[in-house]
Amino acid sequence: MTKDEALEIFRASGALLEGHFRLTSGLHSSQYFQCALVLQYPQYAEKLCREIANHFIGQNIETVISPAIGGIVAGQEVARLLGTRAIFAERENEQMTLRRGFSLKKGERVLAVEDVVTTGGSLQEVITLAQKAGADVVGVGYIVDRSGGKTAFDVPAFPVFQMDVVAHQPDDCPLCKKGFPIVKPGSRKD
Ligand code: ZN
Repeated sequence: MTKDEALEIFRASGALLEGHFRLTSGLHSSQYFQCALVLQYPQYAEKLCREIANHFIGQNIETVISPAIGGIVAGQEVARLLGTRAIFAERENEQMTLRRGFSLKKGERVLAVEDVVTTGGSLQEVITLAQKAGADVVGVGYIVDRSGGKTAFDVPAFPVFQMDVVAHQPDDCPLCKKGFPIVKPGSRKD
């Protein structure tokens, strides 16, 4: 999949918006990306996740593991394409934990999957969790890398798409200087 094809999918699904946004970090940006909006369409989820599945297909993956909530849909789809099971880890008292009866066996070949990686913190916690359970974490795959290439996992990583985040301090924002009204993503104001 080319960068343009991925962008086309993000735009068509409304996952990538252009405008003037106040991000959760407080910074201002001309772009806002919400991966859940692209994954709400199973046909797009399949296209993007197939890239991850194809990358790891020869590696005898037995289980896909994802951090909740963001990674669950992508993990499920990659597992479907690879014909493996899919489990997820979730936070309990701030610790990534396997609940609901999910477990990993010693030596089990595991692929960790996430939707968006910014710092990579949750994904690395899931890798560590699986390794502590004795599993063999073969790699990590994720749909969008927003880290600016800064993440370093201790297993091979495959991002489908790298998306640079251009953000400005509020007092140094070119869009504010032009007087464009600002929108807080998620809140609809027509
Ligand atoms: Zn601004």
